[in-house]
Amino acid sequence: MSDFDVLVIGAGVTGLTTAVRLHEAGRRVLVLEARDRVGGRLWTDTVDGVRLEVGGQWVSPDQTALLGLIDELGLDTYARHRAGDSIYIGRDGVRRTFRGEQFPVPDATAAEMERLTKELDRLAGLMDPLRPWEHPDAERLDRISFAAWLDEQTEDAEARDNIGLYIGPAMLTKPAHAFSALSAVLMAASAGGFSHLVDADFILDRRVAGGLQQVPLRLAEKLPGLVKLGEPVTLIDFSGYDVSVHTERAAYSAPRVVVAVPPTLVNRIRYQPALPPVQTQMRQHQSFGLVMKIQVTYDAPFWRSEGLSGTAFSPYALVHESYDNTNEDLGEARGTLVGFVSDEKADEILGLPADERRARVLASLAGYYGERALEPVAYHESPWAADEWTAGAFGTSFDIGSWVRYGRHLHEDVGPLTFVSSDVAGLGFQHVDGAIRMGDATAARLLGR
Ligand SMILES: Cc1cc2nc3c(=O)[nH]c(=O)nc-3n(C[C@H](O)[C@H](O)[C@H](O)COP(=O)(O)OP(=O)(O)OC[C@H]3O[C@@H](n4cnc5c(N)ncnc54)[C@H](O)[C@@H]3O)c2cc1C
Repeated sequence: MSDFDVLVIGAGVTGLTTAVRLHEAGRRVLVLEARDRVGGRLWTDTVDGVRLEVGGQWVSPDQTALLGLIDELGLDTYARHRAGDSIYIGRDGVRRTFRGEQFPVPDATAAEMERLTKELDRLAGLMDPLRPWEHPDAERLDRISFAAWLDEQTEDAEARDNIGLYIGPAMLTKPAHAFSALSAVLMAASAGGFSHLVDADFILDRRVAGGLQQVPLRLAEKLPGLVKLGEPVTLIDFSGYDVSVHTERAAYSAPRVVVAVPPTLVNRIRYQPALPPVQTQMRQHQSFGLVMKIQVTYDAPFWRSEGLSGTAFSPYALVHESYDNTNEDLGEARGTLVGFVSDEKADEILGLPADERRARVLASLAGYYGERALEPVAYHESPWAADEWTAGAFGTSFDIGSWVRYGRHLHEDVGPLTFVSSDVAGLGFQHVDGAIRMGDATAARLLGR
């Protein structure tokens, strides 16, 4: 008899949700995790005396799977600070403040942005986010880059740059010429529509008290002794009746295995026999985006006393978006800003010496918030770009043409092996909500429900 009914590889939210649901149904499960902590891309850490969300942190109202799990785990949420004016730096280089969603752009640009938002909402409304390749216009939309699609739609460069910002730097974290228009529509459909992505107060609505890593930490508490840390899986042998899973320390066996790692890491594990060609090929067309999440703490949230919310955007600035990220649940007197440097801009600064990079980021923040932004008490850059067990941020996405070519194979099992992560989710794609949906669905399937 096998040691376990199901082995789960990866103690991110996807793997832990799968394992908890199976365990609750009486199945014998074991989770094998490479790192010495659970949570994967969720990591709440204290650095230089500041509690930071190094990975994911925000929860939006459409993320009902995540909101349900937060409730189930007895966690509380709180609202992101948002009172006051937001800041926008436009194509003319001028800094302007505004309220609401509409950036302070020329009227013609605002009209174009509204028209494009409606068009992307329409296209997203026609998509089942679990099956983007079945979209009525899938063939055409998957063959052209989002940048080329935007070029076709409007001659207004600032409208293109802003609409591109919401999906490119802010979500898929790739340049808009590096992913298809179909991937852009998926990003919108997975969040309930493009209109949600342009509304920061919706998409970045709430945070979890104590940090979002509380979700995987509490899930792991429901699996006492059943999560093995520091055990990277190196080989999966599914040539016999039972699958044997080898780590650097031991081997475990079970009739079923759930590989809950990002698609890019699936092929780092050896398989015996080899995975079918389409599975190996498909994952070579999925790649991580790149974004640096930078958190800068000041002795006070000085922007608030200047009537600013802390929210700032510019497709033309190094830091393309920035928000007040003060830990309201701790009642902190200090103030923290979180800013993001994405794709080609991240390439540009990642090669610089650390002090030069910091100076460039602070100068960009000073462009939004003034000279006081240059004097932080703490400065932190997320480490995901070179992290062995993630190697990018926020998530992975297909290159141009690959949704139509490979999408239908994404949810196929290979014999007793199931491959799953937030990055193959429909609703909640590349988000914690999607990780939970994928974990719940995988467990239900294995339980025959
Ligand atoms: C900087 C950043 C900000 C983000 N912001 C948000 C946000 O605000 N809101 C939101 O909803 N989402 C956000 N996300 C995305 C969210 O964090 C992820 O979608 C989600 O956490 C992924 O969960 P997962 O379990 O599918 O994958 P992961 O969290 O990547 O978990 C996979 C696990 O597998 C392990 N693993 C890999 N290979 C092996 C192996 N060979 N053997 C054993 N274990 C292995 C890894 O160590 C990891 O623990 C953000 C992500 C990042 C990086």
